Amino acid sequence: MRIDILTLFPEMFTGVFGCSIISRAVKGGYLELHTHDIRDYSTDKHRRVDDYPFGGGAGMVMMVEPIARCIEQLKSERKYDLVLFMAPDGKTFDQNYANRLSLQENIMILCGHYKGVDERVRELFIDEEVSIGDYVLSGGEIAAMAIVDAVARIIPGVLHDETSALLDSFQDGLLSAPVYTRPADYQGYKVPEILLSGHQKKIDDWRLEQQLKRTQERRPDLLEDI
Ligand code: SAH
Repeated sequence: MRIDILTLFPEMFTGVFGCSIISRAVKGGYLELHTHDIRDYSTDKHRRVDDYPFGGGAGMVMMVEPIARCIEQLKSERKYDLVLFMAPDGKTFDQNYANRLSLQENIMILCGHYKGVDERVRELFIDEEVSIGDYVLSGGEIAAMAIVDAVARIIPGVLHDETSALLDSFQDGLLSAPVYTRPADYQGYKVPEILLSGHQKKIDDWRLEQQLKRTQERRPDLLEDI
């Protein structure tokens, strides 16, 4: 799978993409990540990419031409399954969304900044608009990183233990069961006896029970969808 990210701040991605599971996915050849500086597609001598909003008001708006040029250039090089725009008024990202994206071959993610992008970009070039929650970030970059991370970890083969991504919260519509490691007794706070029993069937039953209990307590809305 290949993901192209269009941004005014490509340097924001280097740390996140160079660590942990995302970097493992890239090194293992499961995922190709490319960032593109929208400024490189400006024809202005000052490499300008934003301008004042028509009709007045505070904040700058990202101009249509540099973004259009960048998208068209990429589209001339390969076929894209989806062009996404990060937007607080888009569809809320969730595990199902991540699962669906992980099945695509090539996707493009446009990150807005400042007051956002000229509306014509959204009308002409964007297939889907995605929000990572009901709050406003300064730019789409952190949102795009969240999406890349959620997608990278579910590409088959990326996590060593093939099943571990499937046992995460939300994958089966439930929250995860609590997890413990050594020591079995931390200053009198003990790990549940059952986990030390070696009886796998009982452990599995206990975990499912905990998942149901936790989901009921914290996110009863999830149980309505099952
Ligand atoms: N004026 C806009 C917000 C602009 S924030 C509005 O009220 O809708 C600048 C950019 O940050 C946006 O264009 C978008 O790309 C990104 N962004 C902000 N919040 C986001 C969120 N919750 N999810 C995804 N992208 C977000």
